[in-house]
Amino acid sequence: MSRNLFQGVEGELDLSESLRRMNATGFSPLDCTAPRHVLKGHGFSRANAGIYREAAALAAEEAPIAGSQFPQGLKPEKYHKAAASGTAKAVPFQNAVLSQCGEAASRRAHSTDKLREECGVVAIHGHPDAARQAYLGLYALQHRGQESAGIATADGLHLANIKGMGLVSEIFTDDILAKLPGQMAIGHTRYSTTGDSALLNAQPIRVDSVKGLIAIAHNGNLVNLGNVRSRLERDGAYFQTTSDSEIIVQLIAHSHAGSLVDAIADSLRQVEGAFSIVMMTRDRIFAARDPRGFRPLSMGRMKNPDGPDTIVFASETCAFDLLRAEYIRDVLPGELVMVTEDGVTSRQYATGVPQSSCIFEHVYFARPDSRIFGRWVQESRDQMGRQLARESAVPADVVVPVPDSGVTAALGYAEEARLPFRMGLIRNHYVGRTFIEPEQRVRDFGVRLKLNPVRNLLEDKRVILIDDSIIRGTTSRKIVRMVRGAGAKEVHLRISCPPTISPCFYGVDTPSKRELIAANNSIEEIRQFIEADSLAYLSLGGLLNCCQGEARTGYCTACYTGNYPTEWVDVEEILPATVGL
Ligand code: SF4
Repeated sequence: MSRNLFQGVEGELDLSESLRRMNATGFSPLDCTAPRHVLKGHGFSRANAGIYREAAALAAEEAPIAGSQFPQGLKPEKYHKAAASGTAKAVPFQNAVLSQCGEAASRRAHSTDKLREECGVVAIHGHPDAARQAYLGLYALQHRGQESAGIATADGLHLANIKGMGLVSEIFTDDILAKLPGQMAIGHTRYSTTGDSALLNAQPIRVDSVKGLIAIAHNGNLVNLGNVRSRLERDGAYFQTTSDSEIIVQLIAHSHAGSLVDAIADSLRQVEGAFSIVMMTRDRIFAARDPRGFRPLSMGRMKNPDGPDTIVFASETCAFDLLRAEYIRDVLPGELVMVTEDGVTSRQYATGVPQSSCIFEHVYFARPDSRIFGRWVQESRDQMGRQLARESAVPADVVVPVPDSGVTAALGYAEEARLPFRMGLIRNHYVGRTFIEPEQRVRDFGVRLKLNPVRNLLEDKRVILIDDSIIRGTTSRKIVRMVRGAGAKEVHLRISCPPTISPCFYGVDTPSKRELIAANNSIEEIRQFIEADSLAYLSLGGLLNCCQGEARTGYCTACYTGNYPTEWVDVEEILPATVGL
């Protein structure tokens, strides 16, 4: 689809028009390398400075941590200057802009005003068909990333690695899985936030070093990558990708530690940010979490009647269910686990750092049938709904979730408020990722493709709508309009977390502060914008209580408070809307 889109402007190359079409059309992540390829091949050099500037503006505005993405450590504003001159740094600038544009287009095309997790990881040790087990694990984790997927396997001697753009089931056919022999595997499914979205940055990433072949799959984002990367480059590291995950492997490769496990521990201590990683050499599997434990990672076991158990790791425990594995425990924050033929060993490579696990995993990302950070997600969401009902009750006839993510909280709300729960909005699960909207100007068409109101449940009713977040506010307004259009007398929107006021730097694709509606408007202003009769959010204290199990987890709440648990954040991203516009 996108290739046709760009071929349509071939010969009369006009990047503005290309960008406009990219943004106005369902641009597939499968094709996000297309603009770079097609435009480069058809005279991009003829584009004038104004077009460069527009591309840079779009790229800088859209890419969540653009400042750290541009090559040579330059900030976007320097590219604006380069663009204005029309010549300076033309080639790196052009490549960077196109890379960013591809990613931005991909993001826009998928924009349902929902935040996106970017990765799920899985690892298998000691199974005769490890690749297929990894495939099943990734299949269960597909909600954590749909842009690319990969599986690496090892048989004690060799390390094979296959990755591709698209869904797990599209990439890994029987024929492909047959090319991945071995009893060990790691797998990754990705929605990119760092590095461009091309196949090059798909994972697992494999690096051949003096320490042997190492493959890595990473969930999360590093925040000090610029510094570490330049230091490694000065030491002679050659990076294959722009992904932050490769930094960890390069650190291992350049470590002076005597053993591989020491080198890994040494490297993990040097990076800051969020990482739940699985790694594989020819004969070992490693799993580790960053010292703050931002992202989940659990360990499980498949019993083998004829031999040692298969050990599995996965971002979420829902993967264990499909594998028929039993949950053993979470990998601890700051823990490095190693699995060999001799069994499982572990060490704490970092201690004394307060835990700050991502609370938004409980609100939205993780599947409700997963247990993360020591607590069932379903239980947390049910409690969020109940607490929301206690905090912001309103006379109504029916409670309706925005499917799918609002369903569990809506059930809790309805029970607590003693109101009927009704599926007044039906989600179309079959909207293809490459669907071309036939008439973009039809108002709210994108949302109507995905959701449809059930008129007889909504007509003449006072409706409480339950959703898990408002990001820019545009989708919420469309949904409120849709429910009202189906005959609802009143529409009261309730959000099962506090207002999102600050972007995330730890592996969640949030827009910059300028674009977050709650960062720049009061709740009353948001209510007016989304055209609801009333609007209320769950309080921060309420949310924290709802996500506390026996484990007494420490949570990151930075997107609700602006208080970041790490020192490294991108200042550009946290400027309010009134600055620099
Ligand atoms: Fe999660 Fe928000 Fe913290 Fe990011 S900033 S890790 S989304 S709680």
